Amino acid sequence: MMSEENDTIFGKILRGEIPSDKVYEDDDVLAFEDANPAAPVHVLVIPKKHIVNAFDATEEDAELLGKLILAAKKVAKEKGLEDDGFRLVVNNGAGVGQTVFHLHVHVLGGRSFAWPPG
Ligand code: 5GP
Repeated sequence: MMSEENDTIFGKILRGEIPSDKVYEDDDVLAFEDANPAAPVHVLVIPKKHIVNAFDATEEDAELLGKLILAAKKVAKEKGLEDDGFRLVVNNGAGVGQTVFHLHVHVLGGRSFAWPPG
């Protein structure tokens, strides 16, 4: 279950307090369109449980963390990215660009991406 103190924007989305364009949902995970897309496909996959970022995850979350990637795969297939591939990004900490402090996996596709990332 979501923790009571999840005051992040994604907590509000999970509670239906602000709208989102849902792409996928199951008991544990929600995926929705990023409001400011950085690529033709840019979907965010989040756990319904409030986990701040990877630093906050525990062994208890191992299955849930796996479900995030499996949900990302479903989204990528739904978005037709099987041939070109997709990139998953998780920012962990403000120092590397995390702005919403509820764990989220960016599913990015539909264009080319530099490596290493800038
Ligand atoms: P971060 O920088 O924390 O890794 O990514 C946060 C992402 O959340 C950004 O890509 C940003 O565009 C997206 N975002 C921020 N606020 C909202 C919102 O209210 N709705 C949606 N759908 N996406 C949001």
